[in-house]
Amino acid sequence: MGVNKEVFGTLTAAMKPSGATLIAVSKTKPSEDIMELYALGQRDFGENYVQELVKKQAELPADIRWHFIGHLQTNKVKMIAPFVHMIHGVDSIRLLEAIDKEGKKINRKINCLLQVHVAREETKFGLDLAEARQAAAMYFLEKKYPFVALCGIMGMASFSEDKELLKKEFSDLKKIYDEIRSLYGSDASAFNTLSMGMSGDYPIALESGSNMVRVGSLLFGARG
Ligand SMILES: *Cc1c(COP(=O)(O)O)cnc(C)c1O
Repeated sequence: MGVNKEVFGTLTAAMKPSGATLIAVSKTKPSEDIMELYALGQRDFGENYVQELVKKQAELPADIRWHFIGHLQTNKVKMIAPFVHMIHGVDSIRLLEAIDKEGKKINRKINCLLQVHVAREETKFGLDLAEARQAAAMYFLEKKYPFVALCGIMGMASFSEDKELLKKEFSDLKKIYDEIRSLYGSDASAFNTLSMGMSGDYPIALESGSNMVRVGSLLFGARG
């Protein structure tokens, strides 16, 4: 139990050179653990489950930036729409539409990342490259989702020790991120976030151009 403060120091130092953002992934962990990191200055936290996030948001300080990093069902968007800082797992056009619709209802533009599938595993959610290109075109060219702020790309590499494989997958994510940025030029000024890297692979992700890492178990201990 409790937070590993030494790891927090190491992670914070690792973010420094590139200015990358550390998201502390606190899913399944108690609010006391979050407060320990909060006391050290951490403000970005990541959660995977809607009910758990809603509960924590209600009881924790209002200046925490909550990142929803899990798979989000369209019927649950409304529960987090009023306060969520960023939704990382936009893995379908349907979900993008649902977020836009909820944003419109409350007149709030919601930060989103397109989740792109590059890992070998069949089980991981995400858009393929063609779908990501299509979503970006609908957003930037057709201006379809005015209550979404499309901020970048999120992805997960394979659960693997194979460094070359991880590098390849992170570089695939960087490529689609760069492609969309260059295609939509200055219109894409808010499109500046590449969220990749977790406890097991964040150093490789940072080397590969990540500017936002999502680290859970290294900081908070293994989840039960
Ligand atoms: C749980 C989770 C993380 C954090 O994983 P760790 O291996 O514990 O660092 C990061 N990203 C996503 C999408 C997750 O679901």
